[in-house]
Amino acid sequence: MCGIVGYLGNKQAYPILIEGLKRLEYRGYDSAGIAILNGDLNLYKKKGKVKDLVKSIGGKSTAGTIGIGHTRWATHGEPNDINAHPHTSKNGRLSLIHNGVIENYESFKLALIERGHVFESETDTEVLVHLIEEIQKRDKLDLEEAVRQALTKVNGAYAIVVMDRDNPDILVAARKDSPLVIGIGKEEFYVASDGKAIIEHTKKVVYLKNEEIALLSRKGELSIKTINNDISTPFIQELDIELESIEKGDYEHFMLKEIFEQPKTVANCMRGRINADEGWIKVGGVNDLVQKFTEARRIIIIACGTSWHAALIGEYLFEELARIQVEVEYASEFRYRNPIIDERDIVIAISQSGETRDTLAAIEMAKEKGAVLYGIVNSVGSSIARITDAGSYIHVGPEIGVASTKAFTGQVSLLTLMAIHLGYQKGTIPRSYYLQLLEELENIPGKIEQILKKDAHIKYIAEEIKDSTNALYLGRGYNFPIALEGALKLKEISYIHAEGYPAAEMKHGPIALIDENMPVIVIATNKSIHEKMVTNIQEVKTRKAKVIAIVNEGDAEIKRLADYIIEIPETDEPITPLLSVIPLQMLSYHIALMRGCDVDQPRNLAKSVTVE
Ligand code: GLU
Repeated sequence: MCGIVGYLGNKQAYPILIEGLKRLEYRGYDSAGIAILNGDLNLYKKKGKVKDLVKSIGGKSTAGTIGIGHTRWATHGEPNDINAHPHTSKNGRLSLIHNGVIENYESFKLALIERGHVFESETDTEVLVHLIEEIQKRDKLDLEEAVRQALTKVNGAYAIVVMDRDNPDILVAARKDSPLVIGIGKEEFYVASDGKAIIEHTKKVVYLKNEEIALLSRKGELSIKTINNDISTPFIQELDIELESIEKGDYEHFMLKEIFEQPKTVANCMRGRINADEGWIKVGGVNDLVQKFTEARRIIIIACGTSWHAALIGEYLFEELARIQVEVEYASEFRYRNPIIDERDIVIAISQSGETRDTLAAIEMAKEKGAVLYGIVNSVGSSIARITDAGSYIHVGPEIGVASTKAFTGQVSLLTLMAIHLGYQKGTIPRSYYLQLLEELENIPGKIEQILKKDAHIKYIAEEIKDSTNALYLGRGYNFPIALEGALKLKEISYIHAEGYPAAEMKHGPIALIDENMPVIVIATNKSIHEKMVTNIQEVKTRKAKVIAIVNEGDAEIKRLADYIIEIPETDEPITPLLSVIPLQMLSYHIALMRGCDVDQPRNLAKSVTVE
């Protein structure tokens, strides 16, 4: 959450900061600000998007070759101009941007007020910059040391960059549990919460490790130490992102681009991992741990949000195909309830960004208890990728739309490969079924392509239900998590209240809500429970709901019953979610657009949830 950009070098900082903030805006967009040093400090902050900030700056002075910028996702204090970052110290000498939460800020705030500090904002961040100043002044320390000492006192998560008006030749950056990357140019440095912000300028980067502080100097020197004052050696690596992958291209929105990329991204996720002709699956991380997996007492899958829905599909897959007991946990619940877990358990963490705060904390706890950790992430080199014993990248490329689409199908593709592979290794699925599933998996990108061609039809259905205030999504088996995911997509971007339910559970409550104003989206592609779904559709029709059914091609029975149908190509049941989710993503996209919502940056949300 929140975007951070910093620059120190011989170019003008302003365009670099603004361009970087625009690229990071998906991480938080309730307010934005920049601070640039040019003798004096020029500080501009504005509620709203980066474009609002630029407008408010107008022709004011933005000259300077050192600066910091921030897009905020508010935790402490409402989104307004004052609470926006950067925040400055009491004497105005230091300015600071921050991603995360300083949990014990209140006690410092009270102590600082007693010492004469006045706070303008309600943020935890402002307290941190005042604290650094207080320590710096009291002990006459250089900035880096003052930052280090302050950070030994605070609890919580942070990525920060600090700038000093009296020393415009340095920037100090530090992180704990929030990502930060340093870009190295020719006698210049960039700092960002995500490589996407700096990719145009340099591909040479150093990922700051947890609890490290970096001192960047105009002379081109970079030194890193830990919060405990131990020297670290910077590890320079190549940024693995292509510029075009973070641009919208011809699409109106990132979400639309990402939906339409799925034939390619699912293929990318499977590339080199499957060969139906030769009859093999190779998932690197699993190969290293095959015995551990097949002998595991249990797999616990930990995730949040859309990744949690992918995890639920994983539960159905691993249990059915590999006969391994699975539990799926919300990371935030798991970590605070003293779960029973030991070295016989495998814990799989799923996170698009690989930085999801709760998921990271949950697996740190599982590691302490001796569990084997496996990561399924998209962002290469992210914290979850680093802490896990083994894992797999989903290789779907950067996902910028806040509502996850291609990362979800990447996660589900990978879980499907893993479950089929382990099922075959364990002998819980016969070779003939194994080969059939492999062949079907290879057909999936082509089948997604066919669904995408139905865009006009899905748009027509969206038009019919766009004014609803509620919606119910029903599914069974592999399509129950898809019902949850469909409902979440609709909520996230169109602000229509939606619920996903196991189709039969509906009778135990939600059916009371059904009337002619309630669209019910039924995902009815599983052949084994087709008759049951038909009955559920009858039940909602009887109560006058408008039924939109996602069915296999040629399903005449449901076609007769439903008000609208979206036909998708048939596939084997365990693979169904990879297809049935696609029309639901498209439906939400069109509905949100028709309601005038900001599809890529829905209100109150942000990508990469790095706060608890
Ligand atoms: N806790 C800080 C605030 O509310 C930082 C939030 C962020 O990461 O954007 O301002």
